[in-house]
Amino acid sequence: MSQSQETLSNLLQETRSFPPPAELAAAANVTAEAYDEAAADRLGYWAKQADRLTWSKRWDEILDWSNPPFGKWFVGGELNAAYNCVDRHVEAGLGAKIAYHWEGEPGDTRTLTYADLQREVNKAANALLELGVRKGDRVAIYLPMIPELPISMLACARIGATHSVVFGGFSSEALRTRIDDAQAKLVITADGGYRRGKPSALKPTVDEAVAQTPTIEHVLVVRRTGEEVAENERDVWWQDLVERQSDQHTAEPMDAEHPLYILYTSGTTGKPKGILHTTGGYLTHVAYTHSAVFDLKPETDVYWCSADIGWVTGHSYIVYGPLANGATSVMYEGTPDTPNKGRWWDIIRKYKVSIFYTAPTAIRTFMKWGDDIPAQYDLSSLRVLGSVGEPINPEAYVWYRENIGAGRTPVVDTWWQTETGGIMISPLPGVTSAKPGAAMRPLPGVSAEVVDDQGEPVPNGGGGFLVLTEPWPGMLRTIWGDDERYIKTYWSRFEGKYFAGDGAKKDEDGDIWLLGRVDDVMLVSGHNISTTEVESALVSHPKVAEAAVVGATDPVTGQAIVSFVIPRGSAGEEVEGAEFLAELRDHVARTLGPIAKPRQIMMVPELPKTRSGKIMRRLLRDVAENRSIGDVSTLADSTVMDLISEKLPSAK
Ligand code: ATP
Ligand code: MG
Repeated sequence: MSQSQETLSNLLQETRSFPPPAELAAAANVTAEAYDEAAADRLGYWAKQADRLTWSKRWDEILDWSNPPFGKWFVGGELNAAYNCVDRHVEAGLGAKIAYHWEGEPGDTRTLTYADLQREVNKAANALLELGVRKGDRVAIYLPMIPELPISMLACARIGATHSVVFGGFSSEALRTRIDDAQAKLVITADGGYRRGKPSALKPTVDEAVAQTPTIEHVLVVRRTGEEVAENERDVWWQDLVERQSDQHTAEPMDAEHPLYILYTSGTTGKPKGILHTTGGYLTHVAYTHSAVFDLKPETDVYWCSADIGWVTGHSYIVYGPLANGATSVMYEGTPDTPNKGRWWDIIRKYKVSIFYTAPTAIRTFMKWGDDIPAQYDLSSLRVLGSVGEPINPEAYVWYRENIGAGRTPVVDTWWQTETGGIMISPLPGVTSAKPGAAMRPLPGVSAEVVDDQGEPVPNGGGGFLVLTEPWPGMLRTIWGDDERYIKTYWSRFEGKYFAGDGAKKDEDGDIWLLGRVDDVMLVSGHNISTTEVESALVSHPKVAEAAVVGATDPVTGQAIVSFVIPRGSAGEEVEGAEFLAELRDHVARTLGPIAKPRQIMMVPELPKTRSGKIMRRLLRDVAENRSIGDVSTLADSTVMDLISEKLPSAK
């Protein structure tokens, strides 16, 4: 087969597939007909999804695309996001239904019904008003995973303030730049939260950031850990201000295009971008996809998404989607290994979680820790599993299905981005025979393609660039304050199409497999090789838990493949030896062909990851090419890079 520089090589052959369980298929929320229905009338299909919500005023036009790439959805419509997530369920008689089973890391718990949530959100909304926050103002939220986080977001939405949630683990510098970029008036924070068995302070970071931000008028502080904090004039305690407010507040309808939130991307490929989402289209998209992709039955399911709300997955699938659908969710504050490595499985057992949504990085960590840990817990309540954040290696997918889902549960691999607002490409658990490692098909209503360098669709069996060919309701409206960057980043590479920045291939059936970032693609002897396929080949070796590969300049081949590998817990000592490294290189060559054989393999204890758990290959490329290391502000643990650099000279 001839290879050109315009296409991505398609090396990995995966033949396993898992049909949906008959019982689930028979009662599925979305059936195969939905694809035809949406294809026949795409906008009509989305309008039908918008009817899941309660609108104060109906829209005049479904989509205004007269000024691309600036789209408007449900034009002229009015609604309030907080009303849709909370009040309407109470009005429907579901006030006593549990919205969140919250579990603190130390083991303390809180149960919030929809009626509780309504009272808490109303009080917080009244408190924001007392602090002078008004419709259109921006509020930065820097909180641990405690109930006050969704409450604060909903309180903002209720009064029309635009929230900007910043990960509780970010530095004061990262917080400061996000506050300044959004010109936020208020920061909501806490004294701290619990991580790895002890209090982890947040307030000092806020104090440092706020000392240099001209726009902040007040800092609203939740008391969580009770640790001592410095008190400044602009500080207000949540427990004083919010607790004394009235629990009555009437939500004001907002225009469908009213800015709901700004959220910065994970920063995997460079400086994070402030993504702007609005109200009606976004809420439609997340409510629909949360119901369709997880087959949510709000009366009986207990749903848990293990993401942090500081990441888009948490916004869409812990807060807005589940609440809009009236779901009962679990929310957990801490780390998966506190007090022991079975904590997550214990939470699933305890709350009888039936739908579980997590990231490949977590799954690979559990593989590394060993099968015997989840095996100790009763996980029989589970019926649908989901994955998001990175391509899931087929081995990790099968491990997840077997060890967590007992070989029964469908696994939905969901592709989307901060920018898309909600899930775009994913199997449907009651319809799709899912292949491990494939995101499969665009959801009904979504139009995606894999194109070559010229923007032409690649044939089945070919690889190239993933694009979205039609606007969608949850799409970002712009990069906050930077329309030019919005156009340049997403809409300039291919005329009239949204460029996602990800490589992908279509298999012989036309199903879509994500192949990693286009920026990370390696050009080896004239072949474009995806990082994902080589990593998946490495992970398919029984002694490998995690792998990251990058292309490093090579005098002979242009670029050569350099791999960083974390061994599985059970792998033993021999993984450092030359013999084992040779075996691994041969394993890759056997799986993918000699072209994909790594030049170097390095055993490392950890990989550099973003706070949302994604591997930051650009930093590994810096190491492999002996450059100074680039922007690390979104790195979860900065010491990881030192550990890896130390390893380099001994590389085989
Ligand atoms: P930045 O844009 O700042 O570099 P980021 O792209 O990591 O950061 P996110 O919006 O959190 O920020 O992540 C979206 C990206 O995550 C996608 O573009 C894709 O590369 C990857 N991704 C998410 N889900 C999947 C999936 N199911 N399969 C493959 N890749 C995925
Ligand atoms: Mg991105």
